Amino acid sequence: MNLVLFGPPGSGKGTQSERLVTEYTLTHISTGEALRAAIRQGTELGKVAQELMARGELVSDDLVTDLLSSLIRQHRSQSDSFLFDGYPRTLEQTARLERLCEEYRLSPPACIKLDVPDQTLILRLSGRRICASCGATFNIYFKPTRHAGVCDICSGPLTKRVDDSADTVRERLRVYHNQSAPVLDYYRDHGLLYTIDANGSSDEVFRKITAIIEENY
Ligand code: AMP
Repeated sequence: MNLVLFGPPGSGKGTQSERLVTEYTLTHISTGEALRAAIRQGTELGKVAQELMARGELVSDDLVTDLLSSLIRQHRSQSDSFLFDGYPRTLEQTARLERLCEEYRLSPPACIKLDVPDQTLILRLSGRRICASCGATFNIYFKPTRHAGVCDICSGPLTKRVDDSADTVRERLRVYHNQSAPVLDYYRDHGLLYTIDANGSSDEVFRKITAIIEENY
């Protein structure tokens, strides 16, 4: 089974991916995480991606597809089930994922789309805080820490992702709404699209996703 978790920034793809890979034997590939790692490591790709990501723009289809391909290659001998998180984001990437699945002999992925209203996304993203020490995620509106700016788990300092600033969040949502329709049309036309109302708790959304998987795979 291969899955694409599709949805606007802040729709919970990262959180649900973490839960899904422990429930099912899936290899999680997040292009956003891989790009952030490239930035931390100061690679050539990281240098190109850094500015684009800070502005909320997309990294080029070529660069991000090369990255995806290398990640699949790295894990393919141990895994035949992948969870793609944050890829594809454009119609071109959708076609390239289809070709990569053929090349690596992976079954065509089903696409699970997480629907969340923009107003909620803006609060989720602009309120998101991440512990610099242990990586735990909080939210000043929905999941505040006991002491402002301090992690409940390890007392580390909380930070904000650079692309969670108000202007960048607006741009990321605009890009998403611009690019998503043809991607969704593709999966719908192939009978591989499942849409979920994801404006609820993490547990509720997880139950809905697992129900789709159990019913269809
Ligand atoms: P994410 O963590 O998935 O929200 O991604 C963060 C940022 O990384 C995005 O706003 C883009 O700038 C970049 N990015 C991640 N995945 C892709 C992709 N498939 N295509 C282009 N850019 C991407």
